[in-house]
Amino acid sequence: MFTARISPSTISVITTYRCTAACEDCCFECSPKIDKALSFEEISEFIVKATHYYPSIKLVVFTGGECFILKEKLFFLITMCTELGLTTRCVTNAYWAKNLFRAHSYCQRLIKAGIGEINISTGLSHQEYVSHGTIINAIRALVESNIPVLVTVETDSSTSSCFDKLRSEAIVKDELNKKEPLLKVQVNSWVRFNKANEIRQINQTVDSLKYGCDNLFDAIVITPDKEISACCGITMSHIDEMHLGNINQVENYEKQQKDDFLKIWIKTEGAFQIMKHIGVSDEKLKGINHPCQACVILHKDQEVRKMLLDNYSSHVVRVFNKSKLHEMKGVEI
Ligand code: SF4
Ligand code: SF4
Repeated sequence: MFTARISPSTISVITTYRCTAACEDCCFECSPKIDKALSFEEISEFIVKATHYYPSIKLVVFTGGECFILKEKLFFLITMCTELGLTTRCVTNAYWAKNLFRAHSYCQRLIKAGIGEINISTGLSHQEYVSHGTIINAIRALVESNIPVLVTVETDSSTSSCFDKLRSEAIVKDELNKKEPLLKVQVNSWVRFNKANEIRQINQTVDSLKYGCDNLFDAIVITPDKEISACCGITMSHIDEMHLGNINQVENYEKQQKDDFLKIWIKTEGAFQIMKHIGVSDEKLKGINHPCQACVILHKDQEVRKMLLDNYSSHVVRVFNKSKLHEMKGVEI
């Protein structure tokens, strides 16, 4: 029988669900009131164990919640990864850059630890807690310290213009105009978890819905619930099938997934395209603007689950062939 090749390139550590912010529609409902976190020992032991079991791992991503809440422990962990020959990335709301002096002092610590890249999340909801000015301080300090930085901005609402405001800043324009900029800026599909909030970007075609999920089989994720997760998608905590056991069971990542046809299918074609293949109505697909939204419907909606069970067998050979082809070519699906 067909089995998928499971050779992850990345460990994604959801260090804590605690955050300095409490953004509306945060996918993990993080806030300053939540304490759930992985300990330093749990994270470091997992990194050592996982990299032994999966030598393909090259990158460790520290995220949350807000990973800089770990303070000294975060810098120790980055240093440990650097010494193990791993590249590192931190995903942050940049709260630590309230003034330029403080931002530079964080950057010095990051350089000393050997950081590979910083990802900053911002936008309308984030900026209720972390101001535009703080984000600009962080960008300036990171770029001046030669640390690559990716800024991800939420899709703006009908009345906000966070993206344009960011792009109009001199430091951003100057860096983006360079031949080899250290800065990248992108917009992320904004997903409304609270139905009372405005829908943003509903009529736009979202390219990522056309493709397979490149997070599956590539990123081994650990969570503050002391669990291994199959992905770090924004809806993963709502999908039982993404939970792969305790953080001590590093082998589960391979054992539980290599012959899981639905995961192979999602990896190959994406949850949105699967729903189209099995004939899910346009009415149900309407309003989906993020692949993980499609994924949670595929797993949780009883009508869709039944359609999947009734129809999947006619897609098995086609999906296995396509998946194998991609594995052989080593191309992104
Ligand atoms: S900054 Fe990120 S982790 Fe923190 S509450 Fe906002 S969306 Fe959640
Ligand atoms: S699409 Fe599904 S499998 Fe992929 S990251 Fe999102 S929730 Fe996870």
